[in-house]
Amino acid sequence: MQKEKVWKEIVRELGKDLDQTSLSSWFSSLKLKSLDKNTIVIEAPNRFVFDWVKHHYQDKLLRAAKGVVGKNIKLQYDINPGQGLEPDGPVRPGSLQAPAPIPGKKTRRPHPGLNPKYTFDNFVVGRSNQFAHAACLAVAENHARNYNPLFIYGGVGLGKTHLLNAIGNHLYQHNPRKKIICSQAEEFLNDMIHAIRSEKIDAFRKCYRKECDVLLMDDIEILAGKERTQEEFFYTFNYLYSAGKKIIITSDKFPKEMTTLEERLRSRFESGILVDIQPPEFETRLSIIKDKAKKDQIFIPDNVAMYMAERIKSNVRKIEGCLIRLSAISSISGSPITEELVEEVLHAILDDDETRLTPEKIIKVVSSYFKVKVSDLKSAKRNRKYTVPRHIAMYFCRELCKMSFPEIGSFFGGRDHSTVIHSYRKIGIEKNTQIEISRHLDALKRKLRVVD
Ligand code: ADP
Ligand code: MG
Repeated sequence: MQKEKVWKEIVRELGKDLDQTSLSSWFSSLKLKSLDKNTIVIEAPNRFVFDWVKHHYQDKLLRAAKGVVGKNIKLQYDINPGQGLEPDGPVRPGSLQAPAPIPGKKTRRPHPGLNPKYTFDNFVVGRSNQFAHAACLAVAENHARNYNPLFIYGGVGLGKTHLLNAIGNHLYQHNPRKKIICSQAEEFLNDMIHAIRSEKIDAFRKCYRKECDVLLMDDIEILAGKERTQEEFFYTFNYLYSAGKKIIITSDKFPKEMTTLEERLRSRFESGILVDIQPPEFETRLSIIKDKAKKDQIFIPDNVAMYMAERIKSNVRKIEGCLIRLSAISSISGSPITEELVEEVLHAILDDDETRLTPEKIIKVVSSYFKVKVSDLKSAKRNRKYTVPRHIAMYFCRELCKMSFPEIGSFFGGRDHSTVIHSYRKIGIEKNTQIEISRHLDALKRKLRVVD
């Protein structure tokens, strides 16, 4: 993978710790000069930036670099005044350039309020998101006047923000005079509070009402329970709506589920069209992985792409994070991208909760695999149809959850710990002597590792 991508990922990691101003003031002028197994060399445009970054951000930078390329990495710096910025000149905070235009047929600069990376072209369509995609495209192409407002609902990392920006980018590319506002609902809330405090509420209203042909409002769920902001949004909404302006809203909850949403706002949201995005199914996940790998020039063998698609079930953002890290680690260590490497990376990026196995999950997965009921596994039934899955589930509780034998016994309907020890030992032996048992164990291990 190119150095630029590793650097971009490090900066993204830093973004979790730093605000946007610090990031753009200091890190936009740095470059990754080189990287090998042990060292990353960072190039600063002048001594001032070098001193500042080293003095203020060394620890954070190192932590971010370790997060991306591995624990044993060290940082070195180099100063290169020929890098493009004024040598030793002052560094202007916030002087980050607007992102470069999207290469391709259109040369128009991107809209400053939109993320140019998110377009319809690079959105992979599958069963899980086809309606949302079609509705967004129809709105962007002006085919659907009555799709107003368009309300996009879906879980985290499934492409809501992507589609919202794709609508904005499409509209803007076709009609640059359109006044588009793309805002997080949280921004709306903060702007409003600020406007009230500084007695500029008229200017705030003018901005959202008069200066707007298309309102793209992301993550509206944040307004739940915030009455004053809801009220302000309600009037903004009505103003735009009755003037025939487009309103597109995203949320991780359906209007009905937002219990502290005022009724009048809820009925407004429901008055247009609601589309949802479901977690992508296997084929879509695989296409997304292949698409992104191709775009980023990362070589992923087919079996590994399939393995990733099996392992990461419900969050496209995590698929992306995993790909970037895989490629960073493999380019530094020179090792190929394998299923084992995927496993390592997943453990580093997924939350504990997502990788942690629980006895509940084990018993659920085992019972559905053997097509028996959970209650049968916990029961005293002694038919082989139940004892084999029961013993296997107990074995996994010990091996993968490190539960004690008495804990396992009580989880499986109050059995004595000596019974559990017997079952555990039995499977321990049979996995080496009975091919069928070892096949079941392998298949189940794969299923148990699935993240959802
Ligand atoms: P959300 O807003 O729903 O939390 P995002 O729109 O931020 O999710 O998506 C997370 C990441 O996954 C983004 O980088 C986005 O480009 C990518 N992504 C999500 N769905 C798709 C898809 N169907 N095709 C391509 N990329 C996708
Ligand atoms: Mg989002």
